[in-house]
Amino acid sequence: MALQLHNTLTQRKEEFVPALPGEVRMYHCGPTVYSSPHIGNFRTFLLADLLRRFLEDRGYRVHQVMNVTDVGHLTNDADEGEDRMEIAARREKLDPWKIARKYEDEFRECLAKLHFRVPHEIPRATEHIAEMGAIIQDLLRKGHAYQVPSGNVYFAIESFPGYGKLSKKVIEDLEEGYRVEVKGEKRNPKDFALWKVDPKHIMQWDAPFAGGVRGFPGWHIECSAMSMKYLGPNLDVHTGGEDNLFPHHECEVAQSEAHTGRPPFARYWLHVKHLLVDGKKMAKSQGNFVTVQQVLDKGYSGVELRYALMRVHYRQTSNFTWAGLDEARTALNRVRESRGRVARIATGREPAGPDDLAPEIARADAAFTTALEDDLNTSEALAAVFEFVRVLNKARPSVAGADAARRAFARFEDVLGCLGSEPPPSEVLGRAVLQGGAGLEAGASAVPAEVQTLLAQRQAARKAKDFAEADRLRDELARRGWKIVDTPQGPRLEPA
Ligand code: AMP
Ligand code: ZN
Repeated sequence: MALQLHNTLTQRKEEFVPALPGEVRMYHCGPTVYSSPHIGNFRTFLLADLLRRFLEDRGYRVHQVMNVTDVGHLTNDADEGEDRMEIAARREKLDPWKIARKYEDEFRECLAKLHFRVPHEIPRATEHIAEMGAIIQDLLRKGHAYQVPSGNVYFAIESFPGYGKLSKKVIEDLEEGYRVEVKGEKRNPKDFALWKVDPKHIMQWDAPFAGGVRGFPGWHIECSAMSMKYLGPNLDVHTGGEDNLFPHHECEVAQSEAHTGRPPFARYWLHVKHLLVDGKKMAKSQGNFVTVQQVLDKGYSGVELRYALMRVHYRQTSNFTWAGLDEARTALNRVRESRGRVARIATGREPAGPDDLAPEIARADAAFTTALEDDLNTSEALAAVFEFVRVLNKARPSVAGADAARRAFARFEDVLGCLGSEPPPSEVLGRAVLQGGAGLEAGASAVPAEVQTLLAQRQAARKAKDFAEADRLRDELARRGWKIVDTPQGPRLEPA
């Protein structure tokens, strides 16, 4: 099966076919850098990372852009209210530029803590004012936008018949809930701002288009300008949280397609359901949010948090609980133990058995891939990993089988990024080898072949109930500096 993605544009799962064979251009609405990003934001960002990892696993060349919104995102997500950056500036008694850099740095640190593949571009809105101006200028020229005496520039939604096609909102239905602009300067109350003029606004630019008045850009035009600058007029994938769908993404489609005349602006739209706390959206404005750092400060690892955020499919709402993080820890320890064991067998630290595991690995690999091909179903993919762990724990892998199992785990981790790395050499090979400075592979060769043979002979003796011989072999191993540790999965060697 090929990758199927649920496309908000068509409201169904569709086979994913990028415009150019083998290449994928994706854009993700990034953070508004006015406070610490919360883990709900990262639920949405993680979908982007997962999609990139899976596409790269499938052999695509991915070009990924995630923006930073550092101006123009007003409190009501549309044209009204105050700029979130300025509220933060007042709150923290810093200028908004400093606020922006401070929280952008925090966002970038969180990407590292949560093991993201860093997007190829992380553009800032404030550094793309000229690109926004060029689009606004063109929209004015084509009659899709108009300027009012205050200097504000609006997009005229009636000039774009496709308005509503992404969110499935019908223009007439939108009347409700839209109060007529106090200033009454819009031709249609649903027209949205491309450029705003407000002398009190701290972040201001000379208008980057002819005849304009000094001001600042609307939030929606930022994403159109940054996505098309780096990815061209037609993106393959655009993602965001479900609250971005309207008005933000609807407006992006309208202004981008009106500007280029080359629809579709994006072929596949993916929207992530919210992370909830006690049934309510986790939101900065609600004050019910948990930051990445708060989770780490409680002693959970980035991988555990990543796992907890990824284990529910992105199109299902997920409820955050601290117990969920404990469950993540338990689950990941199971994976870790199983990975440690196959690493030891593959490197001769633990006796090998007869199982080459070829069918088991093929089954796990196929189940894992099929789950992700089905609209990135992470819960099914993780189920495939745990079924693999269960099967492995019952098996007696050969050296080659254990090595193949290691590679299977490595692929699962490469795609999900939430399983953790293979246990470090200290756990697999024992402290003495680690202290010797050897890595995993070097350490493996440090277990001499004759020692491995002695261990196998001791096993055979025990099986034959020749305990005297088994004890003699154990003592012989001890004499050579090796200790046998018996585990439920069988014995393993550690430096004595
Ligand atoms: P913001 O920093 O508010 O611009 O949000 C950044 C991204 O996080 C956007 O794509 C939002 O849709 C998304 N987002 C915000 N709150 C949540 C949440 N509780 N769960 C999932 N995604 C969210
Ligand atoms: Zn955006």
